[in-house]
Amino acid sequence: MEKVIVVTGGSRGIGASIAKHAGRAGYKVCVNYRNRADKAEEIVAAIEAEGGEAKAFQADVSREEDVARLFADVDSALGPVTALANNAGIMAVDFVEDMTAEILNHLWAINITGSFLCAREAIRRMARKHGGSGGVIVNLSSIAGKKGGRGQRVHYAASKGAINTMTIGLAAEVAGEGIRVNAVLPGLVDTDMHEPWGGKKRIDTIGPTIPLGRAGVPDDVGAAVIWLMSDEASFITGALLEIGGGS
Ligand code: NAP
Repeated sequence: MEKVIVVTGGSRGIGASIAKHAGRAGYKVCVNYRNRADKAEEIVAAIEAEGGEAKAFQADVSREEDVARLFADVDSALGPVTALANNAGIMAVDFVEDMTAEILNHLWAINITGSFLCAREAIRRMARKHGGSGGVIVNLSSIAGKKGGRGQRVHYAASKGAINTMTIGLAAEVAGEGIRVNAVLPGLVDTDMHEPWGGKKRIDTIGPTIPLGRAGVPDDVGAAVIWLMSDEASFITGALLEIGGGS
C-alpha cells in the first residue's frame, strides 16, 4: 500500500524535519504551509534530491474550508492520506492579565481547532468503516502542556494540554478503525518559533539549564514522529512521548 503523509506546517522547523524523515521512510509527502511557499518548495526540493516524492500545499489549518481543500488536493495529487503529522502551531508570549478573547481565539483556532479539523479529514480517509485501511496520527504537543509554561504563555500551554487530552481520547475512539493516535511533547527546540521572543539568545540561555545540557533540534523530534508512525510502534497508541532532554 502506498504511504501518503500530510505534514501541517511542514515548511519550517520541526515540520520540515518530519517531512524530510517521512520522505526517507518512503512516504509521498504533503508539505503544508500557510505563508512561506518559498520555504515549503525548499523542503520539497530537499526530499526530491534524496529520491523521494513531495509536493507543497497552501492551507491555513484554522480555516475549515482550507483544511477540506487541502485533503481533497492531496487525494488528487498524492492519493488518500495514511499518516497525519498535526504539527502546525503558533506560540505567543502573553500574560493572562493582558489577554483578550481575540488573542485567545486566534491561538485556539490554529493549535486546537486546526488539529481537530485535520484529524477529522484524515479519519474520513483512514477509517475502515469509510473504506480506508487504517493509519497513524501524531500530534505535536509540548512539555508546556503538562507543566503550564515557564511562568508565561499559559494559553499556549493550555492549548497543548487540550492536544494531550485529544490524543488520549481520539486514540480510544478510532483504535477499532485501525488508526493509532499518539503525541510528542517537545521541550525547547531551536526553531524560528522563538524569534519574536529572544530567538537564539533565549535558546542559548535556557539550553544549558536543561538536564541533557542543550536545547533540542528539529531532527530530535522529526525522527521520533516517523518512528511512532512506523510498524515498530504498532502497539503504541494514546501515548504522550516527552522529547525534552529531561526538562
Ligand atoms: P515554527 O518554526 O514557527 O514553524 C511553524 C510552521 O507552522 C511553519 O511551517 C508555518 O508555516 C506553519 N503554520 C503556522 N500557522 C499555520 C496555520 N495556521 N496553518 C498552516 N500552517 C501554519 O514552529 P516549530 O517550532 O517548528 O513548531 C512546530 C510545532 O511544534 C508546533 O505545534 C509547536 O507548538 C510545537 N512545539 C515547538 C517547540 C519549540 O520549542 N520549537 C516546543 C514544543 C512544541 P509558514 O512557513 O508558511 O509560516
